[in-house]
Parts: sequence; C-alpha cells; structure tokens
Amino acid sequence: MPTLTAIYNDQAILRQRQDRPKLKLSDFNMLRTLGTGSFGRVHLVQSRVNARYYAIKVLKKSEVVRLKQIEHTNNEKHILETVAHPFLVNMWGTFQDAINLYMVMDYVVGGELFSILRRSKRFPDHVAKFYAAEVILAIEYLHSKNVIYRDLKPENLLLDSQGHIKITDFGFAKHVPDITWTLCGTPDYLAPEIIQSKGYGKAVDWWSLGVLVFEMLAGYPPFYDDDHLKLYEKILAGRVKYPQYFIPNSKDLLKRLLTADLTKRYGNLKDGSEDIKRHPWFHGVDFNRVLARHIRPPYVPTVRGDGDASHFDRYPETDEQYGDDTSADPFRHLFPDF
Ligand code: AMP
Repeated sequence: MPTLTAIYNDQAILRQRQDRPKLKLSDFNMLRTLGTGSFGRVHLVQSRVNARYYAIKVLKKSEVVRLKQIEHTNNEKHILETVAHPFLVNMWGTFQDAINLYMVMDYVVGGELFSILRRSKRFPDHVAKFYAAEVILAIEYLHSKNVIYRDLKPENLLLDSQGHIKITDFGFAKHVPDITWTLCGTPDYLAPEIIQSKGYGKAVDWWSLGVLVFEMLAGYPPFYDDDHLKLYEKILAGRVKYPQYFIPNSKDLLKRLLTADLTKRYGNLKDGSEDIKRHPWFHGVDFNRVLARHIRPPYVPTVRGDGDASHFDRYPETDEQYGDDTSADPFRHLFPDF
C-alpha cells in the first residue's frame, strides 16, 4: 500500500512554508467577517502582495487570557505550523500587535458542512461516507503526529471549492503522546472518558467521529439535551436510538465507535484506524484514492470567484482598529511565538 508521502509529501510543504518571510497586517486588506468565536473572529482578507484571498483568525489577547485559553491558543499555533494534509486547513503564518493575535490561513470558500447538513436535514449514506472517509484520513494523520484534535463536529468541517473537506479550528488540538485530562470540546461530541475526568487520549476523536457520522446520517446527534448535565448522563449511559433507516453496516460501525469501553472502541485497538477503514460500511472505498482527492465530492459549492463569501453567514462587523502597536501590551510574553 503506498504511504502518505507517495501521494502527498507533507514534509516538502512544511519546508516551503518555513522558508517564507514573516507575514504582517499591512500585507492584507481586511474584508468581511466569516465567523466568530468566543474570543475572536475570522475575517476574509485579500493579500496586497499576491491578490489571493486568505482567512485571518483574530484573537483578542485579553479575552484569551480571561477565558484561560493561553495554552490552547499556543497549541493551536504550534500544531497548525507542523501539519500539512489535503483535508486540514493550511496556515501560512502568524503575527501579533499590542491587542490581538493573528493567524493567516488559506480561505476555504465553500463554507461549513454544518450549513449544508442543516439544509439537507440529513445525508444519504454515500454522502456521509464520503465526508467520513476524508475526516478519518485527516484524524489518522494528526494521530500519527501525536496530535489529538478534540473538536470534531460539522461546524469545523469546511468545504473547499471542489467540495473536499478542510478541517479548521485547532483551538482544542493538543500534542499528546499518551494521555491528557482537560475538559474541553463541544458537549454533544464529548467522549465518556472526558466527562468522567479520566485521563484520555486519541480515542476521543474516534468517539466524536461516531457522533459526527450519526449526525450526518440522522440530522441530529445521538445524544442531546439542552441541559448539559442530562446530556452527560445520556452519553455515560451510552444508549443510542438508531433510526430505522440506518443500514445495518452503518449502525454496526457506529456501535463500535460509540462504545465507552476503550478496549473495544474502534480506532483504539491494535490496528488503529485500519479497523474503521476496513469495516464493511466502507466496503469498496479505496482510501488511497480518497487521499489523492480522486473521489468526486457529492456536493460542489457554487463559487463566483476566489473571494466569494456567499457560503458564510453575515455577522455584524467590528469597528475595532487592528494593528495597534502603541498601546500597553501586558500579555505579549504569554504568546512569545506569534
Ligand atoms: P474558528 O474560531 O476557528 O472555529 O472559526 C470560526 C468560523 O470561521 C468557522 O466556523 C468558519 O465558519 C470560519 N472559518 C475559520 N477558518 C476559516 C478558513 N480558513 N476559511 C474560511 N472560513 C473559516
């Protein structure tokens, strides 16, 4: 079987990226907001250097500090810097001013898979399988670098102009050779071992893959409750009601992913992600062709030009001035590598 590098040479891409000059705010024209998070926002921007479009994630240092996300933010930067994969968003560089941190990424024009899923209500089996296959390869790659992603969900899966997946938001990703303890992620997608405050590892991503595949097929996640405590009880009880229209193979794979017993959960056994890829639900899927992006995506976004932002919701724009280098900057030492 060809290795990843036979199809896709991440080391060459990483070297190319390292050789570039440091980016700065004046390299870009800020355009509209594409999304907001709890401590910042993502803007569409156009480069003044090469006229290409990028997405810049802007994080306010004071908010990152207030919300105790210093380590997560530094993790996000370091991890994005060390990964290059066809189904992961590509980051070109970072910089900071007195107020904000900036991360420059490729602009992923097709918007969130979440929007398409809500519009379609639910995906037919082959559509869910296509996205799942691309996500599996991305997670497998991250795990090979000892990175846990920890925030798999349809909101973090963007579609590129051809309809292939790009995973974004590495705000919870962490380099973890063995186990970690932090309670983070998105409630509906949390694995039981995270809720139980046990040390946990890469297997949490395979659990959330199960939640993702279920949500794609059903249109709603397997466990939900407006009350987070009740939601956690449901996850721990582990009872999933599978809709009648799920085919036996998808149900079988989901049962093997959504299992609290780590000695049984697929992805976490001796053969790792191979067990998932070899499961009958993926029968006939050639993962090398998936990796080479040779499988035709089920949905191709209509895109009028590279800077088209019609697939993103509108957000109120900020009147904040970026590029302030004169104000006091009490937090710079916390983000030394930006
Ligand atoms: P994040 O805080 O990283 O989750 O980003 C918030 C939202 O901004 C995402 O859910 C996307 O809608 C959008 N976004 C993030 N990164 C990009 C990107 N590279 N290209 C286009 N949109 C993005």
